[in-house]
Amino acid sequence: IEAQLRQVQKLDAVGQLAGGLAHDFNNLLTVIDGYAALLIAQADAAAKDDLTMIRDAAARASGLTRQLLTFSRAQTARQRVVDVAGLVGSVEVLLRRLIREDIGLLVSAGPAPSVARVDPGQLEQVLVNLAINARDAMPNGGTLTLHTDRVVLDGRRADELTAQPGDHVLITVTDTGCGMTADVAARAFEPFFTTKEQGKGTGLGLSTVYGIVTRAGGVVRVDSRPGAGTTFEIYLPATDEAPTDLPHGLEPQPLTAG
Ligand code: ADP
Repeated sequence: IEAQLRQVQKLDAVGQLAGGLAHDFNNLLTVIDGYAALLIAQADAAAKDDLTMIRDAAARASGLTRQLLTFSRAQTARQRVVDVAGLVGSVEVLLRRLIREDIGLLVSAGPAPSVARVDPGQLEQVLVNLAINARDAMPNGGTLTLHTDRVVLDGRRADELTAQPGDHVLITVTDTGCGMTADVAARAFEPFFTTKEQGKGTGLGLSTVYGIVTRAGGVVRVDSRPGAGTTFEIYLPATDEAPTDLPHGLEPQPLTAG
């Protein structure tokens, strides 16, 4: 399961890179092919063969970039109106399996409805990535706490967070682990930044979290103290729409006869 998760993290980062690169690359291929075609028109027989090789290679490269674009589109978010507290509650079992026996898991939510527009699968990925980091930060056990609430950001607080003022869903993920120095915390969201030993970390967990939250119009913050623990705060703009996507396992059960 560890290896699979690392793979998902890698795919997400690669997908984002691939989408941007494939697009630019395809434009360049069009230029290469266009000029090769122009030269063929004025070339002798031997040069024509060489130029045809260039055009064939450009066509193959163009096919590859099309595949990359398809892959990166599969990575784009499918946003739904999600009951965030419900979703957090529904992944509790999965998180329980990811962390160790010696780590306590507390999941709670405030009374106000916490509904936001987000891709539920991606939000689940965010929670998984944060839980794995929390587990790795607590080699001698501890407590992982997830709390969901609805908060109002006034103008000043919104400015501090570089968020929009107004109602937000706030997910707080707190561990009692080793914490981070200010230097590590400042770099933690960078792609490929890791302090874990080779093979243990990809350095893509938090950059994936950052990407998902940002694409949903939200903000992620970290507050950490070495030796004391770490708190991640995820702010997602709240919506008053009715949730369209119920968390896994909470879908209405089909009516059974009798
Ligand atoms: P990885 O987990 O593969 O190292 P991440 O991007 O998820 O990559 O995390 C980057 C780094 O941030 C980690 O190597 C670690 O140093 C630090 N970090 C992340 N989460 C925590 C946490 N909960 N407690 C302490 N350090 C953390």
